[in-house]
Amino acid sequence: MAKTAFVDTDECIGCELCATNCPGAFRMNDDGKAECYDSSGASEEEIQSEAIDVCPVGCIHWQD
Ligand code: SF4
Repeated sequence: MAKTAFVDTDECIGCELCATNCPGAFRMNDDGKAECYDSSGASEEEIQSEAIDVCPVGCIHWQD
């Protein structure tokens, strides 16, 4: 089963990097925070390298 990613919205600073890099998996919500709306919208490698690894505050995580 594909892993699920989630954004800790308390920590998100709304830089939009993840939504720009990985629009199939991340989008910005009405509060200006990112959300992972579809973990299967990008490969695990893409989510890791294009979102998790580049998030400036490290607030995107894999769910166990
Ligand atoms: S990259 Fe991180 S801080 Fe920037 S919008 Fe995405 S979750 Fe928020």
